[in-house]
Amino acid sequence: MSECPVCYSETKYTTEYENYYLSEESDECPRGCYSYEYSYGSSAIFIPIRGHVISFYWSYNDTGQRDRHDAINTVVLAARKALIEDLLKLRVTSEDNKATSR
Ligand SMILES: [Zn+2]
Repeated sequence: MSECPVCYSETKYTTEYENYYLSEESDECPRGCYSYEYSYGSSAIFIPIRGHVISFYWSYNDTGQRDRHDAINTVVLAARKALIEDLLKLRVTSEDNKATSR
């Protein structure tokens, strides 16, 4: 069991094996704020922020894993910040609506 790095929802994790080797793997947030895909040595991560999808692609023999990890973390934090901002705006808007409907 794993959780979405952006919103902490439980993710949907799937794997496929071919001759006992992991051939495909995916990990997806049910709310759509994060997805990871692995297929035959190639990996991809997709993180949408306000309708713009930021994607990372790499293969198993690519170097710079630490830099990539840092970059992905930066985008995850930005996505979480945008999500919280948008939720707070929604809350303020619904409180305004309550206040004006009285
Ligand atoms: Zn999520």
